[in-house]
Amino acid sequence: MADEIRIDDHVQMKKKHPCGSDVWTVTRTGADIKIRCSGCGRVVMMDRETFLKRRKKLLQQGPVPAVLPFQPIPAATAQDMAEGSSEA
Ligand SMILES: [Zn+2]
Repeated sequence: MADEIRIDDHVQMKKKHPCGSDVWTVTRTGADIKIRCSGCGRVVMMDRETFLKRRKKLLQQGPVPAVLPFQPIPAATAQDMAEGSSEA
């Protein structure tokens, strides 16, 4: 199983939540992982290592994170807007 963790991953954990559900949705990734219980909506945060240890199965992988291309704002834009707004 890949160690890749994506937002919106649907995962099955080894331990059942007290509410009876063992399916969680990843809501935040990074050094710490946030998952939300699909049964009761409770959010739990744990570090990546713990998450991978407790994860039993990846049920459905979330979408590939969108990478926003770097778009520099043309220097002229700000000036044009300032000129246009001076008309009363
Ligand atoms: Zn729950």
